[in-house]
Amino acid sequence: MKVREQLSGYIALQRLLDRRTVLKLERDTPPDALTTLRTQFAERHDKLEQAQKRHEALQKEQGSLQPDVEALREEREHFRKQKSQVTNMKQLSAVVSELDHVETQLKVKEDRLLEIWQELEGTDADIATLGEESQEERTLREQAEADWEARRKAAEAELAGVERELRIVQHDLGETAMARFKKLWVSRKPNAVVPMDGTACSACHADLRPSLVQLVRTNEEMQYCDHCRRLLYDPEQFKASA
Ligand SMILES: [Zn+2]
Repeated sequence: MKVREQLSGYIALQRLLDRRTVLKLERDTPPDALTTLRTQFAERHDKLEQAQKRHEALQKEQGSLQPDVEALREEREHFRKQKSQVTNMKQLSAVVSELDHVETQLKVKEDRLLEIWQELEGTDADIATLGEESQEERTLREQAEADWEARRKAAEAELAGVERELRIVQHDLGETAMARFKKLWVSRKPNAVVPMDGTACSACHADLRPSLVQLVRTNEEMQYCDHCRRLLYDPEQFKASA
């Protein structure tokens, strides 16, 4: 294989590998706007779940308090009647003491019921607000998801094409040339084959000897940057196809 052909193959490999890196990143990175929308949606969902759980707990407590309160009210009625029927001071003070006791218990439970009732009003309002994603918000989120899905699929499809081209170039280069490329790649990735930038190396920016610049232009042998040891080529002779 001629040096020029081999160099051309290496440049193609480098460009395909660059493109593959870009496409992989594109495929795996949703746009920031979508990430924000997803986070907002998830946070809202979490808050809604918490409000619903709190609502259930409050209702349960309310449900168990109510019969207690009913029973205490009946007891209070009972002692009130007794109080109206007492015949002496001893009976009166006993009934009053019972009545006080029931009223104290009743007050604690009634106060708690009132608190629960107020908090339930709050959680009801939260659930109503959190539960409804407006049509506008929903459309925005779904559109962003659909756009991202389309972009991701496009990147995936192009990536498959790049992988196919890589296999073709590797096959065309053959084992010996590929072994040489891999050796260079391992120590210099992600850019092992670099264009000259005028008369400098575009990777390390070192100025190249005039004689080296000439040799790079003639393509008779592989030429490497003295400074970073990357394989050099003349971009005028190997233009990117796309
Ligand atoms: Zn260099």
